[in-house]
Amino acid sequence: MRIGVLAVQGAFAEHVSTLASIGVEGVEVRLPSDLVGVSGLILPGGESTTMRLLIDRWGLRDPILDLARSGAPFLGTCAGMILLATTIADGDPPVLGLLDMRVRRNAFGRQLDSFEADIVVPILGDAPVHGVFIRAPIVEAVGPGVDVLSRLDDGRIVAVRERNVLATAFHPELVGEARFHRLLATMAAAHADPGEGAGRRPHPTRRGRAED
Ligand code: GLN
Repeated sequence: MRIGVLAVQGAFAEHVSTLASIGVEGVEVRLPSDLVGVSGLILPGGESTTMRLLIDRWGLRDPILDLARSGAPFLGTCAGMILLATTIADGDPPVLGLLDMRVRRNAFGRQLDSFEADIVVPILGDAPVHGVFIRAPIVEAVGPGVDVLSRLDDGRIVAVRERNVLATAFHPELVGEARFHRLLATMAAAHADPGEGAGRRPHPTRRGRAED
């Protein structure tokens, strides 16, 4: 099984090595043809404004949307979370709009520009995830179909899932945390070979916006 990692900018190499650590081949995606044969896609951290430009420059937007709508699992981390959001607070129009949430870029003040926190993500088990936040976004609101996977102690949302699309405000790949990648690989295997009972559920066409 092969999982694509958007590699136009940012921290893509760390995702490829985290995938390798669990025996999954990560494919660096720079052109639409790189998406052929991948069973899922990771959108890394970096600079979402730059990624927005490069996604359009290389003609990646429509093939990425087609892959998501086929039901292939996606994971966006940090800037990748911003690319997935249906609404960017006080900002630009959405990039991919695949996850019904409103995110705010660079949501932590100057003192907390970058920080690390152990956070519990119940679907990944009891051991906390060591989250590295680097000029991270926050999820301010989610739509009705979105599961909140994790919050900071103050209640702010930092990990979410809507059907086949996962997103974290932090960087699991920078600390060798492979459980999100393992989950993605499990979802990708089910997508590639639905088998009994694991039918595909295409991502619906998005109309509404995240609700408070
Ligand atoms: N601040 C960046 C942005 O808004 C995200 C930072 C990151 O991915 N580490 O795009």
